[in-house]
Amino acid sequence: MTHNASPILLDTFGRPLRSLRLSVTDRCNLRCQYCMPEEEYRWIERSEILTFEELTTLAGVFISLGVEKLRLTGGEPLLRRDLPRLVALLNTSLRPQRSANGNHGASAAASSSGLRDLALTTNGLLLAAQARDLRQAGLDRVTISLDTLHPDRFRALARYGAVQDVLAGIGAARDAGFDGLKINSVVIRGFNDDELADMIDFGRSAGAEVRFIEYMDVGGATHWSASQVVSRAEVLDRLRERFGPIEPLNLETQGAAPADRFRFADGTTFGIISSTTAPFCALCDRARLTPDGLFLLCLYAHNGLDLKHPLRAGASTDELRSLITERWRARRDRGAEERKTLRARGPLFQIEDLRRDVHLEMHTRGG
Ligand code: SAM
Ligand code: SF4
Ligand code: SF4
Repeated sequence: MTHNASPILLDTFGRPLRSLRLSVTDRCNLRCQYCMPEEEYRWIERSEILTFEELTTLAGVFISLGVEKLRLTGGEPLLRRDLPRLVALLNTSLRPQRSANGNHGASAAASSSGLRDLALTTNGLLLAAQARDLRQAGLDRVTISLDTLHPDRFRALARYGAVQDVLAGIGAARDAGFDGLKINSVVIRGFNDDELADMIDFGRSAGAEVRFIEYMDVGGATHWSASQVVSRAEVLDRLRERFGPIEPLNLETQGAAPADRFRFADGTTFGIISSTTAPFCALCDRARLTPDGLFLLCLYAHNGLDLKHPLRAGASTDELRSLITERWRARRDRGAEERKTLRARGPLFQIEDLRRDVHLEMHTRGG
């Protein structure tokens, strides 16, 4: 399925298509206030959700156009039944060349075209039970979302679940052999901004790199307000007060990764994803696919291109390639930068918009 795409597919601003987020379900076992604050949600019909085979076919088409990184997300991806089977399918179909010792790591496949990095973003609740199977199926990397270390705060933020289960998931991932673990922590003023240093200490002890995420006014964040955003500058100031000098590491930005990375004097590294105050749209090489196959060019996009119907109607690989190519070539999206220029900034979508179209929701788009 993987064949080299040449010339490189570029959008109107010269940005290549290099990474794809596959949202494998819109369902979630948490209700984080910054993502799913409502009492009730409408879900995508099960019959509309792409099968593992359909997901793999579409991912293969994207890879043939230059995508190298896949990230499984949701909703909560570990709620998707038998997820390790999808991982195995993606791994064996889209990453044919492995090193002689059987490793699936990014470095092992770096010299070949195709899938180089297969990652997962999860809230971690179900990770302890699945980490080993996911690793064995060929998953390279795991990012776990963890916003607080306090059990009571966790409940207040996420309504369900227990922080202890997330911590157990992080431990299980490490034991299963995942290195390069990352912890994503959305910082919200007045809620968890007093935990920045504790989170760094926890990450250090857990062998995971913490990435602080600025609270974003994305779909679903209907309670968002600018006053709750803790900026990158403020995060750095507070960490400097506690840990001393911070050295910027700009290694990741070369690869268009969203996190700016930093290092303390003791060598501990961390990242900040400043999508709200210092967006990185100029380098954005990321596309998204919703669980029912809507191809989105931007996290803030108001609409997308349906790939499920052509796929189910029997479109050939070349036809699917043409649809994606045409869409990416016309891409002008730079949603976060545009939001930043607004004078009065509030939630991106109103609750009525979200009820009308579930594709506008963060938990459908995958973050
Ligand atoms: N359920 C999984 C999880 O929470 O890791 C995967 C999906 S979740 C939508 C992906 C990421 O988006 C999470 O790290 C979450 O913290 C982040 N996120 C959701 N809403 C956000 C918001 N309003 N601002 C910043 N990050 C947000
Ligand atoms: Fe669920 Fe993730 Fe959204 Fe929290 S951030 S509600 S865990 S999809
Ligand atoms: Fe990319 Fe859109 Fe996010 Fe900007 S806002 S970095 S264009 S996904």
